[in-house]
Amino acid sequence: MQSTMQDVPLTVTRILAHGARIHGSARVTTWTGEGEPERRTFAEIGTRATRLAHALRALGVAEGEPVGTLMWNNGDHVEAYLAIPSMGAVLHTLNLRLPPEQLVWIVRHAADRVVIVNGSLLPLLAPLLPHLDSVEHVIVSGPGDRSVLEGVKPRVHLYEELIAGQPGDHYPWPEIDERQAAALCYTSGTTGEPKGVVYSHRSVYLHAMEVNAAASFGLTPAETCLPVVPMFHVNAWGLPHAAFMAGTSLLMPDRFLQPAPLAEMIEKERPTVSAGVPTIWQGLLGELDARPRDMSSLRTVISGGSACPPALMKAFEERHGLTLVQAWGMTETSPLGSVAFPPAGLDAEEAWPYRVTQGRMPASVEARLIGPGGQELPWDGESAGELEVRGPWIAGAYHGGADGEPYRPEDKFSPDGWLRTGDVGTITPDGFLNLTDRAKDVIKSGGEWISSVELENHLMAHPEIAEAAVVAVPDEKWGERPLAAVVLRDGAAVDYEGLRAFLGERVARWQLPERWALLQSVPKTSVGKFDKKVLRKQYADGELI
Ligand code: ADP
Repeated sequence: MQSTMQDVPLTVTRILAHGARIHGSARVTTWTGEGEPERRTFAEIGTRATRLAHALRALGVAEGEPVGTLMWNNGDHVEAYLAIPSMGAVLHTLNLRLPPEQLVWIVRHAADRVVIVNGSLLPLLAPLLPHLDSVEHVIVSGPGDRSVLEGVKPRVHLYEELIAGQPGDHYPWPEIDERQAAALCYTSGTTGEPKGVVYSHRSVYLHAMEVNAAASFGLTPAETCLPVVPMFHVNAWGLPHAAFMAGTSLLMPDRFLQPAPLAEMIEKERPTVSAGVPTIWQGLLGELDARPRDMSSLRTVISGGSACPPALMKAFEERHGLTLVQAWGMTETSPLGSVAFPPAGLDAEEAWPYRVTQGRMPASVEARLIGPGGQELPWDGESAGELEVRGPWIAGAYHGGADGEPYRPEDKFSPDGWLRTGDVGTITPDGFLNLTDRAKDVIKSGGEWISSVELENHLMAHPEIAEAAVVAVPDEKWGERPLAAVVLRDGAAVDYEGLRAFLGERVARWQLPERWALLQSVPKTSVGKFDKKVLRKQYADGELI
């Protein structure tokens, strides 16, 4: 029997039209530091996105062409998020925290011809331009010192001037095949060379619907969402597109990502949902402990991107009444892979063991665990293996191999097309994922595996420790042993023996680190995660101890 349903493509154009019309009075508010935030309605954003599309077309942007954005989370960036895919071009978010040589590599690899840049980021972009042969147009959004652009090869435009003369309606939005490219995002390269993931209109649309599902982040028109996660980190976890779909107002922090302005904007603008990596919440916790503010508007704070220390979740809840919800994902998974809501009917104490896991997959994400010999492992909560996933918003290849075609490295994709996540863990019979480590970070000591995350979580529960990162270091006898690098709280007085004894009450003796290092802060990656690659190198170079 044939289905009798219409076959309507799932496109970003649809999200743009819907949000601007049906939820026209919802707002995007951009924090400006001092003075009033900048406010635009979704209707205004829709009109300005249409003007931007006209302007980009006038610059010759063609269907399928990537357009780079080097921008913070703000109103102009939301317009780019909607306009670029809707006109059939490809939104290419550039991670402004990458080392310059990686940024150059990525822009050259993608061959961006047009880059939209926030004025505040011109000092970062200008010195790179001589190395970016493909770039012909630079569009400057917001205030900034443009003198650094004097004499550069690309033509320089001002965002506001460029869109001002353009019509705010009647753009001939093309008929888009939902499998066409909508957005391009390179992995942040924590574990190797950046790899380009190309999201389709269909994947963006379906992913946004899942973000809005009550079992995920549950965005509604009554709410305001504060994506602290940058728009260059896996499309701010899909929140801008999801919000435009659901009519959820957005509070955008722009470049004010430090704990104090975050606390201030939450108190003043009263968002109901926020999302970011654990290090952001760690910073906010310190700020709130020192200077309590009214955070009561927040019903849910989503923590993802790396393992959320249970001690952090507890501290937020007990000291500030805030609920942290852990989610797991990666650039290759759009990123929503799993969310840790406990099963129904449990009291707070019973729910806790579920909340500290990475949670359960939505219906569209299938998972399996693969053991060291390649065999599929049972979901018994004990058998640990590499997590593999597949689904309509999971990458099946990377952009631009040697011949320009998509490529599928064997260590990233199984022969039958599943994504190898590189994450190691267990799954319970009822589907709760418990990640113990990244395959590359796990410590292989004398044939046994030690979970760096477990040691870190215990250490970060110590009252005198602010941050802790554990990495594998070579050991003659055991192959590898853990090195614990810790950052103490101000005025803390604790020695390694004391910390070892503390850990000794919580993990098996053979797992206890014998190597320790004291740091001012743990090195972080471009998206704020612990950078274990740097720590391992520092140890190898004799810089730790
Ligand atoms: P990168 O690989 O460069 O760090 P991604 O943002 O794609 O960039 O990182 C994805 C990885 O982050 C996952 O494979 C996983 O190792 C880690 N991760 C994300 N969320 C969680 C989480 N809730 N718990 C543990 N690890 C997580």
